[in-house]
This record gives sequence, C-alpha cells and structure tokens, in this order.
Amino acid sequence: MLKQEVTRICDRTWCISEFRLVNTFLVEGEEKAAMIDTGCGLGNIREIASSITSRPLSVLLTHSHSDHVGGIYEFKDCPIYMSSRDTDEKIFGMETDNTFRRMYVETRGKAWFPGHEEELLSLIPEEEPDCSFDFADIDDGSFIDLGHRVLECILSPGHTKGSICYLDKTTRILFSGDTVNNSIILARQPADGTALIERYRKTLQKLWNREKEFDALAIGHGSAPIDKDIIYDYLCLCNGLLDGSLKGRYEERGFRRGDVARLGKAELWYQCDN
Ligand SMILES: [Zn+2]
Repeated sequence: MLKQEVTRICDRTWCISEFRLVNTFLVEGEEKAAMIDTGCGLGNIREIASSITSRPLSVLLTHSHSDHVGGIYEFKDCPIYMSSRDTDEKIFGMETDNTFRRMYVETRGKAWFPGHEEELLSLIPEEEPDCSFDFADIDDGSFIDLGHRVLECILSPGHTKGSICYLDKTTRILFSGDTVNNSIILARQPADGTALIERYRKTLQKLWNREKEFDALAIGHGSAPIDKDIIYDYLCLCNGLLDGSLKGRYEERGFRRGDVARLGKAELWYQCDN
C-alpha cells in the first residue's frame, strides 16, 4: 500500500510528502505547531501531523492553488493564514474539489507511482469535502510566533500574486512553496508580455538579498530541502529573458505546455498554457 512519506528535515521540522505529488511541512515551536500547506486532500495528513506533535496546530498557506489547499477540510478547526492577495488565484481556473484531485492524480500520479494510479484515485474522499475556509490575512513582514520559533512571512509574487515564503531563522530554512522549486510555472502572459517575469524577478532579487539569513529551501514539490543557490539561477534566468540574452522555446512535457527556459538548476515555464 502507498504511504505518505515523512522525513525529518531538521530539528522539529518534518516534510510530509503527499505521495510525492506535493510537500507539506510540519514545524513545531515550544507552544504551537504549524502545517505549511495541506496537500491535495488525498488522505490523512492531519492524522500524521497529530501523531508527531501534540501542540495546537495552525495552517500557513504558501498560496491558494488546489494542490496546496486541497487538504484544508481536515484543518477547519485550526487558525488558517494566507495572503488575501491570493483569494482569486486558481490553478488552471479549477475549484478545489474532487474533479481537481482526480485530474491531478491522473496527470501526475502515474509518473511517481506507475501501476498505482487506481490506489491513488481510491484515496480521493468519497464525499465531496467542503474546502471553503476563513483565514487571517498575512502580508509582507507578518510574523507567526510558535513559541521560541518565529516564522517571517515574505510576500513573494510570481507564481501567484499573493505567494508567501516563510523564513525560519532558527533552522535557517526558507519554506518557498512554488515560488522557488525545481520547476516553476508562470501563466501565459497576455500578448507574450513580460510583466509576470518582471514581477517574479523582483521577488527573486528580494529573496536573494536576504540569502545570508538561510541555507536551504523547503520546496513545494520534489525532494526537500534543496540548496538556496537555485534562487540565484532563477534570478539570472529571468534577467536573461528580460534583456534578451536568453531565449526559451516551446515544449510539452507531461502536463506542462508552453515556453520554457533553463539555466543552471533553474527551469522556468514562463509562458505556460496549463
Ligand atoms: Zn502552485
């Protein structure tokens, strides 16, 4: 049977991987604990978190895409934090529901667990869970205090308008969600404009200006943590696209379609159709 993999990535910090589709992180302070993102909602992430910590849980969302908020129905009794700038951001325009979960498993599950697609599909909740939620608005410079462990919210527009990275200076980890990971998607831009790349470039510069405060990135997809240097690769990649010294090309790979450019460890789908 497939299992959610749990990895302790450093002191009082665990990655709970939702069947390698998406990462969630459990971060424990002296008084409280926080779940950073909730996955697609394929199962028992709450149960796993509660088996690791007995501290009261809060949920900190990196952004509002359904693969990160889909498990929110398990955490409705917890305080939930997100940037209100992300309220109308949707992945492929889809609602957070079982239709999305099915699509996500069908397009991504196969790659990780060939032959186990049916098993993954069977983890989709039988009855449609209610994924509407109230949240406390957070913005650049908000702080979440877990008791002798404080996370700083860094507004990081790019992948979405209201993406938030959470900086934990105690462990020197930046929880970067889909702002920086191994393959970043920006939506297709109107008339091939560059506004989204420019917006993303500013965020990368802002994060890189603070690189002395962290060593590693706890990313939203793929093995975590990774080295922070990839931020610099993305920054150079965006600079290259904007000054014309670097050009991408149209590709189709798995569920991704659009113009992609690569530099060092960075891969940016900067005119992505879906
Ligand atoms: Zn996303």
